[in-house]
Amino acid sequence: MQRVYIGLGSNLANPQEQLRSALEALAQLPDTQLAGVSSFYASDSLSPGQPRYTNAVAALDTTLAPIALLDALQGIEADQGRERKERWGPRTLDLDILLYADQVIDEPRLKVPHYHMQARPFVLYPLAELVPEGFCLADRRPLAQLLADCPFVGLERL
Ligand code: ATP
Ligand code: CA
Ligand code: CA
Repeated sequence: MQRVYIGLGSNLANPQEQLRSALEALAQLPDTQLAGVSSFYASDSLSPGQPRYTNAVAALDTTLAPIALLDALQGIEADQGRERKERWGPRTLDLDILLYADQVIDEPRLKVPHYHMQARPFVLYPLAELVPEGFCLADRRPLAQLLADCPFVGLERL
């Protein structure tokens, strides 16, 4: 089993309900257990003029390989009506692989750790609820340091 952290986000069609449905779908993935869920957080979109986002992070224990997991996550997004029009457009559901054990993955379809997570409070603060004390990324950066460099600004814990 590998410990994986998934970032969830939604800003369309009842975002909290979208996240709850996605968590049920994650719990039902084959060879996977849902090991933890953070609080939900609301924040303004990084793209102007879009509805506010609701975000959370889930911890999974899985034997799915990284690309198989990505395929499964994209299947859940599609099931919940995700349409890919413009990049960073509004969406019913976004599921990102933030961390896959301590692996560093650099493939065309999959970069892990997720490339912008260190600059996104709506990722780091929910993640911090789930990881053990003293948790470090694969490159040995402590999460506490990333949090210190990424203030809790514009984030509302729901
Ligand atoms: P951002 O990546 O900035 O959070 P986004 O989530 O809106 O933006 P998407 O349109 O959901 O971007 O995804 C674009 C592509 O990113 C996906 O098709 C997928 O192949 C790729 N990708 C690369 N690394 C990851 C990852 N760690 N988790 C999920 N998708 C990834
Ligand atoms: Ca994303
Ligand atoms: Ca995504």
